[in-house]
Amino acid sequence: MNGRVYLVGAGPGDPGLMSVRSLELIAIADAVFYDRLIPPGAIAGARPDAELVYVGKQPGVPSVPQEEIGQRLIDAAREGKSVVRLKGGDPFVFGRGGEEGEALREAGVEFEVVPGITAGVAATAYAGIPVTHRDDASAVAFVTGHEDPEKPESALDWEALASFPGTLVFYMGVKRLGDNAAALIAAGRDPEEPAAAIERGTMTGQRTVVSSLGEIAEAVEREQVKAPALIVIGQVARRREQLGWLERRPLHGRRVVVTRARAQASGFARTLRELGADVVELPAIRIEPRIESQEVRGAMSRLGDYSLVCLTSPNGVHLLFEAMQEGGHDARALAGATVAAIGPGTARALAGHGVAADVVPERFVAEALVEALTAVEVKGNRVLVARAAEARDVLPDALRERGAEVDVVPLYETVREEPGDAEIEAAQSADYVTFTSSSTVTNLTAVLGDRFPRNARIVSIGPITSETIRNAGLEVHVEAERHDVDGLLAALLADMQS
Ligand code: SAH
Repeated sequence: MNGRVYLVGAGPGDPGLMSVRSLELIAIADAVFYDRLIPPGAIAGARPDAELVYVGKQPGVPSVPQEEIGQRLIDAAREGKSVVRLKGGDPFVFGRGGEEGEALREAGVEFEVVPGITAGVAATAYAGIPVTHRDDASAVAFVTGHEDPEKPESALDWEALASFPGTLVFYMGVKRLGDNAAALIAAGRDPEEPAAAIERGTMTGQRTVVSSLGEIAEAVEREQVKAPALIVIGQVARRREQLGWLERRPLHGRRVVVTRARAQASGFARTLRELGADVVELPAIRIEPRIESQEVRGAMSRLGDYSLVCLTSPNGVHLLFEAMQEGGHDARALAGATVAAIGPGTARALAGHGVAADVVPERFVAEALVEALTAVEVKGNRVLVARAAEARDVLPDALRERGAEVDVVPLYETVREEPGDAEIEAAQSADYVTFTSSSTVTNLTAVLGDRFPRNARIVSIGPITSETIRNAGLEVHVEAERHDVDGLLAALLADMQS
């Protein structure tokens, strides 16, 4: 039996604007034929054994001819495959989806169309330009600014477009902008009408240039606006002054490197992205749980003996509870003990497991925890310090000095991770590199060597990390006052504004 072809729109570039249906189909497809302008990571969810075929067109590079694309879709479907044909924006808006559908129908191959958010409404929305507005425009026209060069005469009726009572949105309009704007003005459109060019709409690095119809070509030339870009002509373009939002975000257009282990980085990376940053993840370390060890098992078997339990990271908390569960315990096993957390992140992780920390110091370093624990009686008592294998010994040493019997139990090890080449390349033009621990500094500088981004400003979470940064021969440009990721973020934002 023939397979089916799905003509799927991937939206304008922001991965978050892909539809649920598109992701579902990509996840089950036997083959995905994709274009150049699809969002980053769009096909990351495809099956590992799926055939991924690039059939995009790129200026100046020989590309797969349209008939051949149609034929390959037909062939794949005839092999019984489920085929996704993935296109930028919407497949039926200047996407040649119509032609591909016709070829499939002619060949007797079943297809479905999954609309995508077209650039004409998405890039405009992200630029703060409503394509219609009660006061400005009751209609919008999507127009191609670059016609098929093989067509004998222009299909565009400039008179009609000039008198069109609403917004004109030109796709593929950068190259011929000068001619097109002149044709509109010659046909009677007001040269003073507001106009905007939106480059890389919804993607990192989105840029909008606002001018008037009469001067937009010059402005685009001067600002070197490149494809993909959309040209908007209409009174609505000036609404951007009020409605622009994306490009106003504090970190818009800034590239920020996050060096935390992938599992921990996601929350921080998400916050940065919400503030507009272009985030590059260069995880230098990975957490390797060690909860199967003798030491951990031993500690679990005498949980009831500890009068004090100290946790020094959210990872430690999660792994402690995993180890407890393996040992047949739950949160009640800590009922008799004083529970200390090194900082609010660790305390939050504890709260997530139903335990309110008794002690949380103001500053999040081992020394501060030692200080905060002075009021807790430890002499002759058994204390559990659950933490990473390679942590500093400040806390256990201080507790031992005070007469405690301390079990230091390594719940995990942080091991070196090799970032991908694409990420390292992207990091070269970073504005900021953020460090949240000494181990990420040591590992990242070792892995990158002279590929460490030299022009970036370095942001450190606190004094210990800063010292490691300096020891690695680098400069610390910004140090957080509060030694957690919120503090790191606040320091970065303050640096941007200074
Ligand atoms: N099917 C696509 C359009 C393909 S034609 C859609 O529905 O959006 C390619 C043109 O679309 C580009 O030349 C540009 O004018 C526009 N375009 C596509 N993505 C864009 C983006 N992210 N920002 C601005 N314009 C974009």
